[in-house]
Amino acid sequence: MLDLAIIGGGPAGLTAGLYATRGGLKDVVMFEKGMPGGQITSSSEIENYPGISKEVTGMELMEPWPEQCMRFGLKHEMKEVTRVSKTNNGTFEVSLAGDESVLAKSVIIATGSTPRRSGVKGEDEFFGRGVSTCATCDGFFYKDKEVAVLGGGDTALEEAIYLSNICSKVYLIHRRDSFRASPVTVEKVKKNDKIELILNSYVKEIVGDNMGVTGVKIENKDGKKRELEVPGIFVFVGMNVNNSILRQSDGNFLCDMNENGNVIVDLKMHTSVDGLFAAGDIRCDAMKQVVCAAGDGAVAGIQALEYVNH
Ligand code: FAD
Ligand code: NAP
Repeated sequence: MLDLAIIGGGPAGLTAGLYATRGGLKDVVMFEKGMPGGQITSSSEIENYPGISKEVTGMELMEPWPEQCMRFGLKHEMKEVTRVSKTNNGTFEVSLAGDESVLAKSVIIATGSTPRRSGVKGEDEFFGRGVSTCATCDGFFYKDKEVAVLGGGDTALEEAIYLSNICSKVYLIHRRDSFRASPVTVEKVKKNDKIELILNSYVKEIVGDNMGVTGVKIENKDGKKRELEVPGIFVFVGMNVNNSILRQSDGNFLCDMNENGNVIVDLKMHTSVDGLFAAGDIRCDAMKQVVCAAGDGAVAGIQALEYVNH
């Protein structure tokens, strides 16, 4: 019986583990299906994490976190959690891929979110062969070549800037003429000579051959068509909430959720179920920032400690 199972090893899960173990909880396991660090490790530049005054990559930011967070006894199991449910005696069953399961007195859900697909024709067919959702991972393959970026949020614009340092040209395709991204980032994009804005436009199809992507067919609001000859397109159209592990066998969620699929929590990260906490991007009203996810994790870790001790 674990004292605490933490699901997800991003900024929220890692920080929850740090606070819970440093506060005295003994059997704390963080289930993270990949390497700890979370979605920020795919980002090419962070300049808003307090205390880090120079621009760093997501990898650089997160690299020291696991060592610090595990110093007080947090264990990492590289396993995927498939479901969290409540048992009749008030504990939790954490089901793992491969038909294993463990019991825990308390659980923190910190599963964050994952990049959304746009649904454009050709996206799935060429995913990994010219279609990417990670500029840091794949940008270098397009050194001195032209690429397209789809989306109008912070991620699309920041990653377009990153790609403009590697590629000969970046076409930024967005379906409206105003952006969700912060004004300071929009200004940087507008001043960047290597980024061509293609606004009020939709990608109709990603085309290619057996080697991968060869181009992108686009159409603007007035029906004007254009084809870009690019070997790569980066899709940054938002994130999906990773909430599936809360879905029970009867189809309902374990705890209360909002209409967007985020877990409803109070200011102490308590969900509607005793002993179950949520932290970071998975929770309602999340600011979707590393510093906020870490703050949530600290609160959830402290609350889980209190819950188990009492
Ligand atoms: P995540 O970081 O999403 O971590 C969740 C973890 O849970 C993942 O590692 C995942 O593998 C794991 N997981 C999910 N499901 C399971 C499962 N079933 N079993 C086991 N493990 C599971 N924020 C900023 O503050 N500044 C920025 O400059 C910034 N730039 C960004 C750039 C990009 C490209 C992106 C995508 C995001 C950016 N963000 C930025 C937002 C920031 O990354 C997130 O707000 C933050 O990572 C959320 O942390 P989290 O711990 O809640 O979730
Ligand atoms: P986002 O803010 O949700 O933006 C998604 C963009 O994709 C929007 O411009 C949207 O267009 C467009 N889009 C959605 N579906 C589409 C489709 N099917 N086809 C074409 N375009 C589509 O997502 P995000 O940029 O990934 O950001 C996620 C969160 O992380 C945000 O809260 C963001 O602020 C945060 N973040 C912060 C930083 C930072 O602090 N520096 C960096 C990155 C991300 P519309 O605008 O028309 O809806």
